[in-house]
Amino acid sequence: MKKKLLILSVLIIIILSIFITFYSLYNLRNVGIKSAIHNANSISEVVKSGLTSHMVNNNMDDVDTFIRSVSNIRNIEKLWLVRSEKINQQFNTTSFNIPRDKIDEEVLRTGEIKYEVDEGLTTSKIRISIPYIAQPDKGIDCLKCHNVSQGETLGAVSMELDISSIKEIGIESLYLTLFVVMLTVLIFTFISKKVLSPYTFLLTLFKDNLNYALNGNFKKIEPPFGLSEDIRNLTNDYNNLMITFKDTTEEIDKKLQGFIGYRTEFLTNRNPLSESREIIKKLSNLYQFKKEVEQDSSKEEIYKRLADVMENEFELRNFTFSEIDMLNNKITKVIEKGESFYCYKTLCESPELCRSARTKSDVHSIDLHNSCQYFDEKDKYYYCFNINIVKSLYLIVHCVVDTEEEFEQLKQKTVFIKNYLKEATPSLEVNLLMNALKNSAFRDGLTGLYNRKFLDEHSKKLIPQVKRESLNIGVLMLDMDHFKAVNDEYGHDIGDKVLKELGSILEESVRESDLVIRYGGEEFIVLLVGVKDAESALKIANNIGKKVRENEIDVYAGAKLKKTISIGLSMFPQDGKNFDSVLKNADIALYEAKSSGRDKVVRFKEEQVSSVDLF
Ligand code: GH3
Ligand code: MG
Ligand code: MG
Repeated sequence: MKKKLLILSVLIIIILSIFITFYSLYNLRNVGIKSAIHNANSISEVVKSGLTSHMVNNNMDDVDTFIRSVSNIRNIEKLWLVRSEKINQQFNTTSFNIPRDKIDEEVLRTGEIKYEVDEGLTTSKIRISIPYIAQPDKGIDCLKCHNVSQGETLGAVSMELDISSIKEIGIESLYLTLFVVMLTVLIFTFISKKVLSPYTFLLTLFKDNLNYALNGNFKKIEPPFGLSEDIRNLTNDYNNLMITFKDTTEEIDKKLQGFIGYRTEFLTNRNPLSESREIIKKLSNLYQFKKEVEQDSSKEEIYKRLADVMENEFELRNFTFSEIDMLNNKITKVIEKGESFYCYKTLCESPELCRSARTKSDVHSIDLHNSCQYFDEKDKYYYCFNINIVKSLYLIVHCVVDTEEEFEQLKQKTVFIKNYLKEATPSLEVNLLMNALKNSAFRDGLTGLYNRKFLDEHSKKLIPQVKRESLNIGVLMLDMDHFKAVNDEYGHDIGDKVLKELGSILEESVRESDLVIRYGGEEFIVLLVGVKDAESALKIANNIGKKVRENEIDVYAGAKLKKTISIGLSMFPQDGKNFDSVLKNADIALYEAKSSGRDKVVRFKEEQVSSVDLF
């Protein structure tokens, strides 16, 4: 760069000098010509005066001598007189003083000064003719002697002047200019080498250093000698800035990497600046994710959010989320994207075989052998993340890719994927515990059915919904017949067993959307949500009665027990102003069933109300 700058400067100086020299030479030449014309004018004035006085004194014979003597003046090479044709005719001297060249002819014709410059290498001449115009001059009237009219050209004074001295001056000034240019170039080169060189070198250092800095490599500059104090101070300030940048970015980079558990110090050609930017972006996404999962109201929502991240942020196409409960040997597939779950069949039968859940660690494809024998897609690669949500419940995120290259990319992403899974875990745990808590509060411990509390809570949502959709609810109130006798005869354990079996029969006999509730003791309620009419409800109730009647309960030592059940049926909204009154009416119908002999279904009728009131 320095060399280029120097060459450019020298070139500019030379071009400028050449231009100035030629411009001066041109001007000098013009001045020379102008002064030659001026001289020629003066000479012609002298000649004209001489001629006039010779004429006035009637001494024209000595004119030649006069002209010759004038010709001897320095620089006059030749001098001659030219007469116009008219004058020659007047004085009958047709062959005398006639034009010698075109310049003479043109001057006689136009009456204007004409000249021509003849320039040789070292000498220059000017050939010039000055017209002699007929006009009164200093009291002498040409027209007296000459047979011409005023303003007409009488003749011309022609001469050839040597103007080489001007050229010599030009050549001298050219030499001088060349010398000055050379000297300037030399001085400039010297100065630039001595004075400018450290500055241009410093500029190059700045340029390189800034390029490094842009790539996150902050270095100091070692300033060259010969800089002014200001520039040295500037360089020191720059170095301090670079050190601050270096320390700060390294610190930020280290801390950020610590945040996400990702280490890159060992990599060469790193750019901590852009890496930090990248990590901050990732952390900000992660933070956003964390905030959102914390506000999600169910684990399904959290799983869905996690699946979106897997798809959009980590560009995974084939993956499955499954919950494996190692304590109860249960697997639940919660999310499935693409084709991935090649081990599902095995795990459905025996969830405890899941290697990731069993070893409580991540399991993935390895080069030498198959780490998980249940993944039998030879041409594909897998990575199973293990997340322990609560005690013995694991979320296994099973990802599958097609190529080794994709697998390597997936491995690079695992640190970040784990961060997301880690952030989701506390929210998943909270949701699971909340669900468990809710379940325990709303479930009956003996039969696993919903309890009365659940009915109270759920009916608040259910009834408005049923009203909105104009649906019916068939309300069955059920009570086992002579249940007390079971307790008395076989003991409470058998009594409990009978209740459990009744619960199972009830659940098996209705749709999933129907609700089976243990209302208290050996009383149950079944809500047939959306049942077509009372007839259909009656059918279902009779079917339940039949199943209970036919069910044989193992009591002990091969003894079997059979029980019956009484059922009261009322319909919502037909049998009451509100749900509570419909419930009450089902109870009245049940009472009717009991009092009229048991083991039957009784549909509520208005008249039953009065008979019950008696008790
Ligand atoms: P009825 O045909 O009139 O209904 O006769 P019943 O014997 O079934 O009469 P009742 O409703 O008075 O008896 C209910 C009995 O159920 C009383 C109670 O000891 C028993 N019971 C209530 N809850 C449980 C329970 O959780 N387990 C057991 N084993 N028995 C229970
Ligand atoms: Mg009872
Ligand atoms: Mg009973």
